Amino acid sequence: MNNTLKVNEIFYSLQGEGPHTGMAAVFLRLAGCSMNCPFCDTRYAFAQGQDMTYAEIINKLEQYPCRNVIITGGEPTEQDFAPLARLLKQRGWTVHMESNGAQNADVSDIDFLVISPKKHVCPDMLAKAHAIKIVVGQDTDLEELKTYFPYANGRTAVCLQPQSNKQENIDLCVKLIKQNPFLKLSLQMHKLAHIK
Ligand code: SF4
Repeated sequence: MNNTLKVNEIFYSLQGEGPHTGMAAVFLRLAGCSMNCPFCDTRYAFAQGQDMTYAEIINKLEQYPCRNVIITGGEPTEQDFAPLARLLKQRGWTVHMESNGAQNADVSDIDFLVISPKKHVCPDMLAKAHAIKIVVGQDTDLEELKTYFPYANGRTAVCLQPQSNKQENIDLCVKLIKQNPFLKLSLQMHKLAHIK
């Protein structure tokens, strides 16, 4: 444990995606992701970042009047986030995390884990997820998409998120959800509302 993380940005806003859409939260965006998805909208987080100690991060987070934190990226599991999550829990924070789930990680101190599967995903991470958020576009493999459906239950939400908020992708998601009513829609509210 080296007590530092490479941080791309820390900012205060509303959760824009998934089951907690609209919730005020402080975002901790960690730098770096090795997945390189063609539709990635956080490429700016891949390389740009500054090393911050856990104490420096907590100090910055606690400048805001909110105790919900969303650890995101980039891909947070590519760094040693777990000790920070534990410290935050001990200080009374509710800790959310967004991950691509590609590698198994210690999420024991994460209160709400959202997995957004990309090219590959670790089954153990899917089993631990509180929500599985799948980006859906016109080239989405619908047979592969269906493999995530059995995860939808009282504990885990399975959300379809139209790629880039495009109308044709929204239409496809709505059709799929009406056919499979245990699914949920996740629009990128922050983009529709023009907030960060
Ligand atoms: S996994 Fe997420 S952060 Fe990484 S490249 Fe893909 S969309 Fe971007």
